[in-house]
Amino acid sequence: MSEKSLDEYIATMERAIVGIRKDISEHAKGKVTLLAATKTVPAEAINYAVDRLGITDIGENRVQELLEKYDALHKENLNIHFIGRLQTNKVKYIIDKVCLIHSLDSERLAAEIDKQARKAGRVMDVLVEINIAGEESKGGISPEEAEEFALGLSKYPNLRARGLMAIPPAEASKEEFIKYFSKTRKIFIDIFQKKLHNDSSCILSMGMSDSYIEALDCGSNLIRLGSALFGRRN
Ligand SMILES: *Cc1c(COP(=O)(O)O)cnc(C)c1O
Repeated sequence: MSEKSLDEYIATMERAIVGIRKDISEHAKGKVTLLAATKTVPAEAINYAVDRLGITDIGENRVQELLEKYDALHKENLNIHFIGRLQTNKVKYIIDKVCLIHSLDSERLAAEIDKQARKAGRVMDVLVEINIAGEESKGGISPEEAEEFALGLSKYPNLRARGLMAIPPAEASKEEFIKYFSKTRKIFIDIFQKKLHNDSSCILSMGMSDSYIEALDCGSNLIRLGSALFGRRN
């Protein structure tokens, strides 16, 4: 399959961004962060989105791919997130490059992020990933264990729990998206607004290209869009 050219990326993004922003303004309950999920997207296309389309946040899935693109990215006004599954032995490569890790789902990973953040002299913001549909193939903490896990993170001085992230099943219907997102939102309120009381700054990361409208309707304040913005991945 041929690689998409920069011109093709630009044409797709220019076409898509207006509709995406309109959807956000119509469905957002408050301030919403539009995160561009940039796996397989070349750095030049990402830079165009950042320089010309007002994209301020991007998310990468793979450590190797992030490291390959990192030097070429225009980083002055850019927040880089890590949104994919993260192996403990790779935390050290991204600890100084990302602002938020969305995929925290084990005690072992929490301990390693805390350790590497301490070495780097920083506090790393994290989201607890919830395995909202109990899928074997996905990472994430079960809904039942989420609260205990999230509250337990306070023992790590160099790690700060900022909210939750969830990825619903890929083939779900609109009704199912709403069911899963509502459930995630409820867990989020219980932990971050009732228990941790940091409601002004907490993050509910849910909604992708096929589900962001439903996610916004359910109170998401960070949507992660790949194909809706960049077109189908090669
Ligand atoms: C790829 C990816 C997205 C974006 O997916 P699209 O369906 O292309 O919008 C969002 N979140 C995560 C964790 C991803 O891996």
